[in-house]
Amino acid sequence: MEKAENSSLQEYFGKEHQLIRKAVREFVKKEILPNINEWEEACLFPRELYPKMADLGFLGIGYPEELGGTPGDLFMKIVYTEEMMRSGSAGLVAGIGSLDIALPPLVRHGTPEQKERFVKPVLAGKRIAALGITEPGGGSDVANIKTTAVLDGNDYIVNGSKTFITSGVRADQLTTAVRTGGEGYGGISFLVIESSTPGYAVGKKLQKTG
Ligand SMILES: Cc1cc2nc3c(=O)[nH]c(=O)nc-3n(C[C@H](O)[C@H](O)[C@H](O)COP(=O)(O)OP(=O)(O)OC[C@H]3O[C@@H](n4cnc5c(N)ncnc54)[C@H](O)[C@@H]3O)c2cc1C
Repeated sequence: MEKAENSSLQEYFGKEHQLIRKAVREFVKKEILPNINEWEEACLFPRELYPKMADLGFLGIGYPEELGGTPGDLFMKIVYTEEMMRSGSAGLVAGIGSLDIALPPLVRHGTPEQKERFVKPVLAGKRIAALGITEPGGGSDVANIKTTAVLDGNDYIVNGSKTFITSGVRADQLTTAVRTGGEGYGGISFLVIESSTPGYAVGKKLQKTG
């Protein structure tokens, strides 16, 4: 903290950033560090961490307040992440942070009903969200994804599989890249698929935290 206060970056880190820094640092010290070795061994951290962090406003940093977010700029997020990394577990930080890749498309393009259903409960720590893009056939070439979604009445029938999904084994909802149109990136859409959907199945858990 001293370094940031005395550097040319000082102008970006004001009093509010310092308050969050202190709060996250204390949280990591009290709630995470005493347990992190055990959680790393188990490749899993408790779900209870999400509501605890939501109550402190950490999960919602930068999201609209009307969706349960906490006012804050990018530097607030940086401060939060720097302090979370004091846990020494990138897996834990990425696991908690999967909402930050799963929610932005919904916040930007979702309907009010979708935001109510899929954004608010995640920022409240009640549901876990993940982003499903990468497939066993490859991750870099997103334009070539193979998972298909075909409209059948009021439902989409989805066929395909995803891999390396952060929080994938226990996510309640997956913001999923699917092919609803023709070839290339123009044929790709996002569907939010709930893990309770018939036919949704989680394969083997990879040897990693988060
Ligand atoms: C810790 C972790 C967390 C992840 N979390 C998620 C997640 O939450 N959701 C999700 O969807 N995915 C996730 N991924 C997957 C990640 O996005 C993919 O691993 C990544 O996109 C690369 O895909 P790939 O592993 O299939 O490698 P490939 O696409 O098969 O690439 C293999 C190698 O070839 C290189 N390569 C590929 N194409 C080219 C090219 N055209 N020119 C030159 N070189 C090329 C790549 O750089 C790489 O070195 C995660 C991965 C990791 C490791």
